[in-house]
Amino acid sequence: MNITQLSDKVSVSGQITADDVAKLAEMGIEILICNRPDDEAADQTSFDDIKNAAEKLNLECAYLPFTMGNMNDAYIKEFTQLQNTDKAIHAYCRTGRRSAYLWENAQKEPEAESTLPSHGIDKNIASKTFDVLIVGGGSGGIAVASSLLKRQPKLLIGIVDPAKHHYYQPGWTMVGGGVFDVKSTQRSTQELIPNGVSWVQQSVETFIATENKVRLDNGNHIYYQHLVVSPGLKLDWDAVEGLSETLGSNGVTSNYRYDLAPYTWQLVNEIKQGKAVFTQPPMPIKCAGAPQKALYLSADYWLKNNVINNIDIHFYNSGGILFGVKEYLPALESYMKKYKANLNFNQTLKKVDGKKKKAWFVSKDSEDNDITTETDFDMLHVCPHQTPLDFIKRSDLSDDNGWFEVDHATLQHVRHNNIWGLGDTLNTPNAKTLAAVRKQVPVVAQNITDAMNKRELTAGYDGYGSCPLTVERGKIVLAEFGYGGKLLPTFPGWINNGVKPTKLAWFLKAQILPIIYWQGMLKGHEWLATPLKR
Ligand code: FAD
Repeated sequence: MNITQLSDKVSVSGQITADDVAKLAEMGIEILICNRPDDEAADQTSFDDIKNAAEKLNLECAYLPFTMGNMNDAYIKEFTQLQNTDKAIHAYCRTGRRSAYLWENAQKEPEAESTLPSHGIDKNIASKTFDVLIVGGGSGGIAVASSLLKRQPKLLIGIVDPAKHHYYQPGWTMVGGGVFDVKSTQRSTQELIPNGVSWVQQSVETFIATENKVRLDNGNHIYYQHLVVSPGLKLDWDAVEGLSETLGSNGVTSNYRYDLAPYTWQLVNEIKQGKAVFTQPPMPIKCAGAPQKALYLSADYWLKNNVINNIDIHFYNSGGILFGVKEYLPALESYMKKYKANLNFNQTLKKVDGKKKKAWFVSKDSEDNDITTETDFDMLHVCPHQTPLDFIKRSDLSDDNGWFEVDHATLQHVRHNNIWGLGDTLNTPNAKTLAAVRKQVPVVAQNITDAMNKRELTAGYDGYGSCPLTVERGKIVLAEFGYGGKLLPTFPGWINNGVKPTKLAWFLKAQILPIIYWQGMLKGHEWLATPLKR
């Protein structure tokens, strides 16, 4: 039994057996709730068997079974009533996720009416249902609102996002390399919300898909006809012990945060000798090339300033290879050689002590035992562990790994025809990049328009993603590929050879792509992003 304690009184787990009931009783459980319908799997212990075992031990039992996507207010009410008895409850289903989702919904009584928060929203909208509600006003959210309005200017669209600021995250690699000023990567969210679109400055706490509504963290509900989910992913800084406490000091930095990217550049300038360590966590991460891009730009600066021979450069990668698409490896490996960087594969950062300037990595031996390696450092650039956001993971809209579950071509949710996904939150096996979002936005906008007009969905996504690998200041290896690692270069080889470092690709990244982002993508211009016809 893998038990997760959700509150003082409520725990959840995956499927239990009749033997587990005695253990739960010993732990003080007084009520058992089954959220899994009988006969979902051949090896499943039936509710009757659990109930028989429970009754012998004087445990109460409740059968509240539901399948993903079919939980409703009746279940929430019943769970709330059981919870109000103040008895210790253990709920279970196949994995524990359905039970956790039910518990989460039972923390607040469902409201009789839809109410909208007054902050930042037109009061007249309070009695209406949005034609399209967008969760997350980052790269995907703002762009899809604009693209939808280009197709249907009269749509009633709402964007829910608590963040005051919006970021052009690909610029942070350039900030860490001393090329961009950090301020150029930030705008106010308000300024970017398209005209006529309502901004609800709150967080979405949970989805109630069966009733076409979301619940906000202030307890209010918002209704929709179509929902687009694009809240990005979670940067899990706390997955590495000691990291949060020391980030931004003691030589520990990361280009993965607006406030820290300038510190990377400060460290690159300050260090004249010593050891520089760059880390990469397990996949998937957004911009899989960003951890090594930080290394290349730092090393290039040290090379050009004649200090590189005094700096011992290390790359520690949780994965077993420098880059997932083999065609780009020769160019990248040659730069690692040029900078005399030591490559350490299958090593995951576990702990940092900033004051002592030490870091610990874990790898596995042939019998799957942990081996811990200690290293000291003068500069440590960390790429954080990345996971699905908690509210996505807990919802019944995610897959078994917690990512938002869509059809890989249409980006429509696999269980709900009026729900769509975009960006880093998706379970699609593409490179999680802004370039991918740029291609996904027209697909979602077009398919929602088709669905609203009761047509077959016409737009498809081929998994395109792009990673401009800044191998030196002034040159980039422009990796562009789709599902299955298929190369999908934008330009013919004679204009830009994607597997080689080129000045043109640097010009694109440094001069053109920010303009395409701020002036094109976020304003509904679908430059370099025509969707595939299905
Ligand atoms: P985001 O843009 O992250 O937006 C998510 C939004 O959702 C945020 O505004 C957040 O506040 C909001 N949100 C979160 N939770 C909730 C909630 N509960 N309710 C409501 N709103 C919520 N891509 C490239 O193509 N090329 C590159 O060179 C590149 N380099 C990168 C370098 C770095 C250092 C980083 C960090 C990223 C890089 N990327 C790059 C990746 C790219 O920036 C992301 O893939 C892209 O921004 C993802 O867009 P998104 O809309 O999915 O998420």
